[in-house]
Amino acid sequence: MKNSASIAKPHDSATERRLSPDEAFAAARTELQALVRYAPRSMWEQDTAALPLPLQYLRRHARHFAARELAPRALDTDLAPHDRDVERQVLRSALQAGLFFNSVPHPEEGRPLPLDDYPLAWTASLKNEELAAGCGGWALMLAAHALGATPLVLCGDAATLARVMEKAKAKGRAGEPYLLAYAITEPASGSDVEETRGAAVARPGTIARPSEGGWRLTGRKLYTSGGDIADAVMVFAALEGEGLESWTCFLVERDTPGFTRVRNEVKMGQRASAATELLLEDVFVPDEHVIGELREGWALNRASLNLSRIPVAALALGIARGAVEAAIEFVACFELGGRPLLEYQEVELQVAEMIAQLSMMRSTIWEYARRPIPTQAAASLAKVSCSDAALQVCTSAMQLLSNHGVLHRERVEKAWRDVRLTQIYEGTNDINRLAIIEDLRQSLAGDGGV
Ligand SMILES: Cc1cc2nc3c(=O)[nH]c(=O)nc-3n(C[C@H](O)[C@H](O)[C@H](O)COP(=O)(O)OP(=O)(O)OC[C@H]3O[C@@H](n4cnc5c(N)ncnc54)[C@H](O)[C@@H]3O)c2cc1C
Repeated sequence: MKNSASIAKPHDSATERRLSPDEAFAAARTELQALVRYAPRSMWEQDTAALPLPLQYLRRHARHFAARELAPRALDTDLAPHDRDVERQVLRSALQAGLFFNSVPHPEEGRPLPLDDYPLAWTASLKNEELAAGCGGWALMLAAHALGATPLVLCGDAATLARVMEKAKAKGRAGEPYLLAYAITEPASGSDVEETRGAAVARPGTIARPSEGGWRLTGRKLYTSGGDIADAVMVFAALEGEGLESWTCFLVERDTPGFTRVRNEVKMGQRASAATELLLEDVFVPDEHVIGELREGWALNRASLNLSRIPVAALALGIARGAVEAAIEFVACFELGGRPLLEYQEVELQVAEMIAQLSMMRSTIWEYARRPIPTQAAASLAKVSCSDAALQVCTSAMQLLSNHGVLHRERVEKAWRDVRLTQIYEGTNDINRLAIIEDLRQSLAGDGGV
């Protein structure tokens, strides 16, 4: 066995060429040609061309950014994450590229992408697929920041949004990003804070006590993505003496006394993004840092997850696409019995199946993401079906690479570890299935349909 650099031609013989759609369409009558002839293009190009122009631009721009800034750092960061200099460099580049905030005004006051006419879940999904195809870990870091910004966008409070954006702009003017994170998970509540029945019996672990001019927060949050470097964290806490229905979203700034980043977990995938444990010991939060209204946090959390789960599906898609691209490079070059693996029909069938899976994932994501308000069922359906399919695709890619597929410095091995996490965060896929059923119960009681 040896490596070869050549990719097989589409057709070997003159007869095959004559029978190919390309030649057949070229030889057809002009009227027929006008209807059927096409120039072969990648699925990526075909899908991009189907988007409105600003979204085409976003997709191409994010792809170039990922190829330039994320992919070259992906493997090194995976092995040695949380290098502050590298993190600062990547985040600064994202800021300069206008890919840091696409939901709120651009913090540098430069040229914002004209994306306001499109649903947030759609722009975020397009961006996430491209970033994750470059590196699942860096993509999660930016996606977690977007999740942190979501309550600000959804709460509908222009004054609060303006106050926070003023800080982001001030940092942005100095070329520095203002990073946000989102903290709901607690030692005794993971799924419970993402699902109605669990929440009904859960005991809140992070409590807000009234204090002169604001609130004092005490508790512990786990697995906060980007919590180690975030400038501010959206911390969800219950009001003293009340249950989860009193949840309120508080913006906690990183240098507030009593607020400690305890440690980062050593986790299997998406390692560029830290999962941080946060400790709040009598942390003072002024009234103007309450996001939305008191007791509105539960609704904000559910709505934020509905908005974010489709983009999480897109993270899974992007990671799987990266694995497929790496696998195709491999089977086109790697020779077995004197010919590249891609010339074996079994391998062709597997590659075709992987591409079909990617296409199905993208169709699901784009279909649901382009709707103005994502329903819980749609968001969870996209998250479950795409993260499950993406793991299957990464497993197939790893199988194609066999020995090479298990090596730490292979993109496919990393993709396999990265993609597995998308079945767990933003609600495990079990919890997301229950979310689909929760909406189903409502619709059965309403219009009676599935
Ligand atoms: C990489 C990573 C990043 C994360 N980022 C963040 C973040 O930024 N912010 C944040 O707040 N959290 C974050 N999380 C936490 C994540 O959202 C939770 O870990 C997840 O929701 C699961 O919670 P848990 O681990 O407590 O599982 P548990 O709730 O303890 O569940 C254990 C098992 O029981 C199953 N289960 C639970 N309830 C039911 C039920 N009613 N019916 C059937 N099965 C059930 C679950 O599916 C799971 O398999 C992150 C986690 C990871 C791994």
